[in-house]
Amino acid sequence: MRLLLALALLTLSACSGARPVEQADAAPETTVVLVSIDGFRYDYLNRADVQAPTLRMLASAGVRAERLIPVFPTKTFPNHYSLVTGLYPEQHGVVGNSMRDPAMLDEEGRPMEFSMSNSDANADARWWGGEPIWTTAERQGVRAGTVFWPGSEVDRPNRPTHWMPYDDDLSYSARIDTALAWLDRPQAERPRLIALYFSAVDSEGHDHGPGAPEVAEAISEVDDALARLVAGLDTRGGAGLADLIIVSDHGMVAVDRSRVVVLNDALDLETVDVDWGDPVGIWPNSADDTDAIVAQIDALDHVRAYRKENTPARLRYRDNGRIPPIVLIADDGWTVTSQSYLDGRDDRPSGGSHGFDNAYASMSGLFIAHGPHFGRGMTIDSLSAVDVYGILARALGVDPAPSEADASAVRRVMR
Ligand code: AMP
Ligand code: ZN
Ligand code: ZN
Repeated sequence: MRLLLALALLTLSACSGARPVEQADAAPETTVVLVSIDGFRYDYLNRADVQAPTLRMLASAGVRAERLIPVFPTKTFPNHYSLVTGLYPEQHGVVGNSMRDPAMLDEEGRPMEFSMSNSDANADARWWGGEPIWTTAERQGVRAGTVFWPGSEVDRPNRPTHWMPYDDDLSYSARIDTALAWLDRPQAERPRLIALYFSAVDSEGHDHGPGAPEVAEAISEVDDALARLVAGLDTRGGAGLADLIIVSDHGMVAVDRSRVVVLNDALDLETVDVDWGDPVGIWPNSADDTDAIVAQIDALDHVRAYRKENTPARLRYRDNGRIPPIVLIADDGWTVTSQSYLDGRDDRPSGGSHGFDNAYASMSGLFIAHGPHFGRGMTIDSLSAVDVYGILARALGVDPAPSEADASAVRRVMR
C-alpha cells in the first residue's frame, strides 16, 4: 500500500498548501502506464454521483487538465491514434472509425474499406501512418505492452513486444493482471510502456446519455480496475516507479429525436453515396455536382456542409484522400440522418453521441497524470490530444518522432 499511502499524503499536502512529500525511492527508470477510459467527458469527475476514489486521488496528487481537447472527428479511432502519434488524423490517416480509401483498391478495383471490427484492417500498416509511441520506444530499445489500443495490432517492425487482439469481453481485472504479469518478465522482455483501454463509460454514455446513473456505475467499475493497477504497481516497486497517464478520447453529448437533421429534405439520397459516420460524409457521383450539393445541404438548419478543402482550418481535416469530398458538421447534439432510418427506429436517436466539432466543451476529455515525472497537486486549463505523444516520450526518456505535440505542454505538466 505504499503508493496508496504516498498518494494520500500527497493529497493532504496539496490540500493544506504544504510542500509536497518527496518520493524518496524514485528510480531512474520508471514504468509509464497510459490508460484510456473511452468517452470519459472532461466534467464527469465533478459529478456528485460519481464514486471514483482512485481517479480523484491521482488527480489531486498529480496533474489534471480541466479539458483534454480531442482532435476532429471526435471519435475513438482517430483520437486514440492521435494521442499516441502526436499527429492529426489528416496526417496519420485514421480519419474515422470507418473510412474508405480511393487510392487503395481491392481485387475488383473498388476502394478498400476500413472498419474498427475488421481484424485485417487493424493489422494492415497501410491504414496506420505516423509513428506510435510504442514504435518510438521499441526502436530505441524500450519494450512496450498493449492491452488494447487502436493501432497496436498493426503488423510492422517495432510493434509492441506484448500485444493482444481486441476483445471487448476480457474482464477489467484480467486486463490489469495481464499488464502486471508483463512487469514480472525478465528484464529483456519487461515493458517500460504499458497501454490499457476500457470501453464501459463510452458504452453507457451512448446507451443512456452522459448524465445517466449507468455512466457513474461504469466509472466506478473502471476506478476499481485502476485501484487494482495502483496496488499491483505498488507491490512491484512502490511509489516513485510508475508514471500513470489517464486520458479519454472524447466526451459525450445527449441526443434525442427532437434534434435531427433529415438529409432527404435537401437532397435525393439515391444520387449520392453517403458515409453515415460522425461526421456524415458525401461522395458525389460526379465532381461537378459538389458545389450544388454543398449549397443544398448548407441551406438546412443545424448542419454546415463543406467541400473538404474548405472545412474550418482549425479542424485540420482536409488534406487526406480518405476524407470525403463533402463533410457535414452538425451542431452539438444534433443527429444528421435519413427519413428511412427514422421510419425504421421510432426509439432513435437516443442516449448520447460524439463525433462533433472538437471546440464544443461536451466533446472534451480527461487528462490526469501522476508519478515521478509529473507536477503535484496541480490543475491546468487544457491540453490537446496531440500533446500527449510528447509527454509520453519525455516520461520514457526516448527521442520523439516529428509530431504536432507542443513542447510547452511538457513544461506545463512535467517536472
Ligand atoms: P466510439 O463510439 O467511437 O467511442 O467507439 C467505441 C467502440 O470502439 C468501443 O465500444 C469498442 O468496442 C471499440 N473499440 C475500441 N478499441 C478498439 C480496438 N482496439 N479494436 C476494435 N474495436 C475497438
Ligand atoms: Zn471513444
Ligand atoms: Zn463512443
